[in-house]
Amino acid sequence: MLAVHPELFAGLEAAGFKRFDLRSVYPAKTPVCFASMFSGLPPAGHGITQYEKPALACKTIFDALPAAGLKAAIAAVKDSSIDLIFRGRQADYFSEKYDSDVTARALELIEQGGHGFILAYHQEYDDLLHADGPWKEAAVAAVRRHVEAFLKLAEAFDKKWAGVPRAVAFAPDHGAHTDPATGKGAHGDDIPADMDIAHFWRFGA
Ligand SMILES: [Zn+2]
Repeated sequence: MLAVHPELFAGLEAAGFKRFDLRSVYPAKTPVCFASMFSGLPPAGHGITQYEKPALACKTIFDALPAAGLKAAIAAVKDSSIDLIFRGRQADYFSEKYDSDVTARALELIEQGGHGFILAYHQEYDDLLHADGPWKEAAVAAVRRHVEAFLKLAEAFDKKWAGVPRAVAFAPDHGAHTDPATGKGAHGDDIPADMDIAHFWRFGA
């Protein structure tokens, strides 16, 4: 998406976010990717190597945070990968109906100020790329909404924690391509469209 529609992400760099070009993990399926992102392990290390959503047995950031005295919150759409694979830790879990509810929850949590780490997961782009195609208008509009919602969260977060060392990151898990057999979107192949991603970070102090 970044290669095809860079303008969708321009707001991030305009808001001071630094772009990091990364490679996803293979196979680039959502639970495989997020397990790697939050454990630091390759798929063979964390054990999720296909589209399945068990609670992870390995150590993750959600084990390290409470050990460091930080309370974590996870707000995600109910039964999504993020909602399920980090269960069983000392974290506050919020299973929401859809993305806008996740945003509202995260804003509320930021305002309350009780967490040292908040993970908010949106999934509309992924839903729409599978339902139709990754470059279709509806899917592109979903990415626009993801960036807008993220910038809103980032602004609220930086306002709340001004003066405190902090970081906020926009961290997608994988890309996508059009499957010639179905004409719809898919991901999980070892190709640049699926594997090349970018994360955006902003640090404050
Ligand atoms: Zn997907």
